[in-house]
Amino acid sequence: MISLKNQIVLITGASSGIGNACARIFAGAGVKLILAARRWERLQQLADELSREFGVETHLLQLDVRDRHAVESAITSLPPAWSAIDILINNAGLSRGLDKLHEGELPDWEEMIDTNIKGLLYFTRYIVPGMVERDRGHVINLGSIAGHQTYPGGNVYCATKAAVKAISEGLKQDLLGTPVRVTSVDPGMVETEFSQVRFHGDRERANKVYQGVQPLTPEDIADVVFFCATRSPHVNINQVILMPVDQA
Ligand code: NDP
Repeated sequence: MISLKNQIVLITGASSGIGNACARIFAGAGVKLILAARRWERLQQLADELSREFGVETHLLQLDVRDRHAVESAITSLPPAWSAIDILINNAGLSRGLDKLHEGELPDWEEMIDTNIKGLLYFTRYIVPGMVERDRGHVINLGSIAGHQTYPGGNVYCATKAAVKAISEGLKQDLLGTPVRVTSVDPGMVETEFSQVRFHGDRERANKVYQGVQPLTPEDIADVVFFCATRSPHVNINQVILMPVDQA
């Protein structure tokens, strides 16, 4: 296991769920954290907790990953002490509805495509050139089992995660000959705010999703992300699929 001490780690979607759990495990390893999301108070609260518990330094970015100009400006205007990003965790993402494709809501499709695909691409495009220049770096994308298996009503969300799989594989190919690593971490069901977001805050519908399954926890995923990031520099874990034991 390599030490990540003083490395700079940027996590998108750090205000909740898997991103929040990743922030905690990386904070424990003595990194410096750049935390991005739209909900400023959540980010501030997390930064305060991490500073108290681990003495970790944080830099917060309040932005919408769908806004290309906001992402470009946030990355290009990072203070010099924060600009040499070592690890990018492209985690921000969501699902909306479980509608049949021919009955689906177009704004839901656009939100998923713009967040899960374009947002991930923007961060990758603005951060990876610096990694290549500095001869070090690791991009870890949050894909999903939904990128491998399509389930009823999953249509557009599954398509976005199939795109994440293709982007991770493509980036890996494009970075051959450099030491920059690319990993896709693809979970099954994880209990976070994801289900509530999917059903626009309908808790009852959200809770039904987990019936008969003991879902993974955000910490289960953060453990795997951290494991991938701490392998020897010559080891690239391309893809990890992790599922609840009782999920098909
Ligand atoms: P949460 O809803 O708990 O967290 C989603 C995070 O993404 C939040 O921090 C949210 O921050 C951020 N986010 C969403 N949209 C935007 C946006 N437009 N701009 C900036 N940030 C945004 O869900 P999870 O933690 O479960 O999801 C994290 C990732 O894991 C996603 O990519 C998801 O697809 C993937 N995943 C989740 C699974 C699950 O069962 N939970 C299974 C497989 C994969 P804010 O709202 O503050 O902007």
